[in-house]
Amino acid sequence: MGTVYDYIIVGAGSAGCILADRLSASGEHRVLLMEAGGEDKGFWFKLPVGYIKSYFNPQTNWMFYSTPQTHLGGRSLYAPRGKVLGGSGSINAMIYVQGQRQDFDDWQRAGNPGWGFDDVQPYFRKLENHPQGASAGRGEQGRIGITPMKGRTHPICDDYLAACDALGLPRSEDFNGAQFEGSGIYETNIRRGQRSSSSIEYLAPARSRSNLTVMTHTQALRLLYAPGSANSICGVRVRQGDRDFDVQAQREVILSAGAVGSPQLLQCSGIGDGDRLNGLGIAVRQHLPRVGHNLQDHLCASFYYRANRPTLNDEFNSLWGQMRAGLQYLLTRRGPLSMSVNQAGGFFRGSTHQPRANLQLYFNPLSYTIPALPNANLKPEPYSGFLMAFNACRPSSTGQIQITCADACERPLIDPNYLSTAHDQEEVLQAIRLIRRLSGTAPLRNLIKEEVAPGLAIHSDAQMLAYFKDHCGSIYHLCGTCAMGPDAQTSVVDAQLRVHGVQGLRVIDASIFPNITSGNINAPTMMVAEKGADLVLSDKPH
Ligand SMILES: Cc1cc2nc3c(=O)[nH]c(=O)nc-3n(C[C@H](O)[C@H](O)[C@H](O)COP(=O)(O)OP(=O)(O)OC[C@H]3O[C@@H](n4cnc5c(N)ncnc54)[C@H](O)[C@@H]3O)c2cc1C
Repeated sequence: MGTVYDYIIVGAGSAGCILADRLSASGEHRVLLMEAGGEDKGFWFKLPVGYIKSYFNPQTNWMFYSTPQTHLGGRSLYAPRGKVLGGSGSINAMIYVQGQRQDFDDWQRAGNPGWGFDDVQPYFRKLENHPQGASAGRGEQGRIGITPMKGRTHPICDDYLAACDALGLPRSEDFNGAQFEGSGIYETNIRRGQRSSSSIEYLAPARSRSNLTVMTHTQALRLLYAPGSANSICGVRVRQGDRDFDVQAQREVILSAGAVGSPQLLQCSGIGDGDRLNGLGIAVRQHLPRVGHNLQDHLCASFYYRANRPTLNDEFNSLWGQMRAGLQYLLTRRGPLSMSVNQAGGFFRGSTHQPRANLQLYFNPLSYTIPALPNANLKPEPYSGFLMAFNACRPSSTGQIQITCADACERPLIDPNYLSTAHDQEEVLQAIRLIRRLSGTAPLRNLIKEEVAPGLAIHSDAQMLAYFKDHCGSIYHLCGTCAMGPDAQTSVVDAQLRVHGVQGLRVIDASIFPNITSGNINAPTMMVAEKGADLVLSDKPH
């Protein structure tokens, strides 16, 4: 028998790094954090625009693809996932959005006491180190550095804001403040011009603790059951290089392997739909039919424009522009390299019947296409360009993650079942109509030389939907595959994040979302980890 730990955390992503810090902080518990990928060392992880380097890098990215999507003409969509300390939080675009009050109130209404917005807001505050100080909704003592991009954005973002004003859309001074709905400038989890991930801010300082062990390049293969017990977890079988061995947990194993990895490990360990597992020759330990189901994501498409004024394309496409941006970054930690390219945007109602914002927009002062081929580079278009992108806040399509064999090293099937409901198709049309109305206002008409794609020849609903189906992509917010709820028939974990019917096992990451939140989901995932750590620590062993 190898070393025995109190807690074993599988997956050092956005959630896992926070758990490793919080559970080891008192010094009382021996904690093991294991991660399939390696260290997040080096300049590109810190430089905000550096994420383009990991977008197609198999060393730091699982580079999954979805199954062919029935409602997208059979296209398979790219699903990058971080495979490195910090997980997807080390390779993401750093847009920081808490979400809409109703998102979390719906979590609570789904039978999860303690997860309404008023309950989770203190955990958002706990995370945040906001330069403008604390307020009802914002924290200033937390670890994650927040940089509002307001006042730093490219000048053409003002034309977008003026276009929103011209349509009479509300303004949001802060999407994480008093008013969520409206046009505005995004905040980012960036500190002094560098990525502020949970790995950098929580895990790195905790690594000097003697009671925290971090194993990189270590992949969990399956959960281990206590001898003589049907469903009490006592450890994990892992693979390091070509060596397989067991690690033991005296208290709990916590799965933080993300929305793909966590349900995969449950299924490989006999926890999932009994019939399906039997069909794969896997002994069923706990029949939990919803493991892997309820997969949700934000599906997004872009409208591309040629501008009659310089944009970031001019800066990034010229040697002089690159040198200037590089110098500005090195000397001041400011400028375009220090920010996300998703600078402006907002949350809007797609129709007057909507009770709240149901669409998210991005205005990027840079236009680029994401290549279909994994060996290609993300490159700005060779002209002064910008783009507007959109996704629905709360799409109703749900899909699933399913293993095809007991081997956790085999990729599971990822089927988000995108755009499978009439509701989601209608929201796509609402968003496209909004973008066309925006581009028709005087401030944007004065900026736009040409709508490059889809182009003005595409205007009927049928043409718009066809454009969307041909060009949409994931915005990388997979979640919901081990959903929290009170009933083992309809959910996977309870409100304490314990797996129904299994002892010594929790899931704490984006897979526990009962419903996807409005906006980008890294902040809610880190909130889940902060609250999850409290739940673990307050659960005294019997
Ligand atoms: C390209 C990209 C851009 C994004 N942009 C944004 C953004 O701008 N804003 C935002 O809010 N969100 C963004 N997201 C989404 C956000 O980053 C993720 O939703 C969030 O990081 C998920 O956190 P997690 O802890 O659930 O999982 P992850 O952070 O994905 O962590 C899971 C970890 O578990 C490890 N793992 C998996 N299986 C095993 C195993 N068997 N054994 C050991 N380790 C394992 C993985 O390698 C990984 O490190 C983006 C995501 C991507 C990929």
